[in-house]
Order: sequence, then C-alpha cells, then structure tokens
Amino acid sequence: MRFDFFDTPKPPLEFQPPHSLVGFETLEKAESDRRALVSLLRGGNAAQQRLAAIISPCQRGARCHSAACPVCGRQFRMRFAGHLAELIANDDADWWAVTLVPKDRTYPLGGLRQFSPSQFKDRIRKQLERSVLADAAVVLGIDFAVQIFSQPNKAPIWRPHVYKLMRGHSTESIHAALDHYYYPPVSHTPRPIFSRKIDKKTVLRVTSYAFKCKFNIRSQIGGVNLSIPLIL
Ligand SMILES: [Zn+2]
Repeated sequence: MRFDFFDTPKPPLEFQPPHSLVGFETLEKAESDRRALVSLLRGGNAAQQRLAAIISPCQRGARCHSAACPVCGRQFRMRFAGHLAELIANDDADWWAVTLVPKDRTYPLGGLRQFSPSQFKDRIRKQLERSVLADAAVVLGIDFAVQIFSQPNKAPIWRPHVYKLMRGHSTESIHAALDHYYYPPVSHTPRPIFSRKIDKKTVLRVTSYAFKCKFNIRSQIGGVNLSIPLIL
C-alpha cells in the first residue's frame, strides 16, 4: 500500500501531535525503526527484500510513501490524527470512543491471514446500518492485539477488534444497538463493548490511537497494536 497524502496541509499547531501530544514518537525514533526494519527485511524472502528496497532509500525530500515505512507512517499519523482531532474539537456534537471485541474472531499465531479486514468492516457496517446508530458519522480502526493467557497450556491468539470514533448518540444507545451482537461476555472476552465520551481537551490522544503501529504489554494481555483507519 502506498500513501498519497504528502500534499495535504499540516493541521494547526495545537493539533499537531509532535507539538501538542506528549509521548508522540520522534522523527529520530521513526528513522531508527525504519533502519531496523530494512535490516530485518533484507534477511527475508524475495517479497521482503523487495519491500526493503522500497523503504531503504526513504529520506527527507524523497520519501518512499510506503505504508510499511515507520517514517512515512508517522507523517500520515500526524495528519490523520491532527485533522480528525481538529474536526472533533470544533464540532458542537459530542463524540464517543467505542471498542468492540467480537468473541468469535480469534486466530492462532501464524494464522492471521485467515482474517479479512474487508469482511470485518462490512460486518460492522451492517450492524450499524440496522440500528439507531445508522446516521452516525464513524471513523473506524481495526486494532490487532495478541491475547496471552496465564494458563501455560493455553496458546496465545490474535484478537482483531474495533476502535471507532462516533459522532452523537450515547452509551445507552450504543449498548441498545450493539449488545445483542456482542453479549454475553465470555471468559476470553470479559468486556466486549467499552464506550466513553471523548474529552475534547485530550482529543488528540484519542485520534492518534486510531492509527498506530506499536508494541506494548498490558497486564496479561499483550498487544501488537496496528490500527487501520477506515471511513464507514
Ligand atoms: Zn518512507
């Protein structure tokens, strides 16, 4: 996938993550990640070596535009998160951040290729279209986490799930519309729906979470968190 956004103007300074969001990755960190990725890909198969050849020459003034490039990904994330934060902050309506975790979408490590992002997106779209949320503006990211269990005989699994930002409505209407698709909770999915109203003062943190590529460990649940933003 090739990014095609470099002519998009940057958002105003207060909505630029490197200026206004503590902890946003630095250009130096992204460059170091790019070099590490190139070195890893060069030792891989033919397709991985082709990708290394695309990302390797990326430099200021001649960016590679590859969605796999940490530097170009950071550039996209700055614009995506910034412009979306500006839109939400200046909107009169309330916005909600909603996480949806379908309990039937689990894949063994090495088996994630069975997952179809398009089918997943269509399924979520249909759930919304059939509900009171049908008129809501929604920005949806697909988040990929690895769930690791405390029981040693239980293998880790991939858990694709939804992180969406939605205009209007309320926690009550979100649950009324979606509970029957996601409830009851099961042991590996104790909280299938989590919604919270977005605090517009910290909106940049929320929007930057909708597109990211990073690894972190959260208690017993570790995650490679890679979100793909999709406009529904
Ligand atoms: Zn690049």
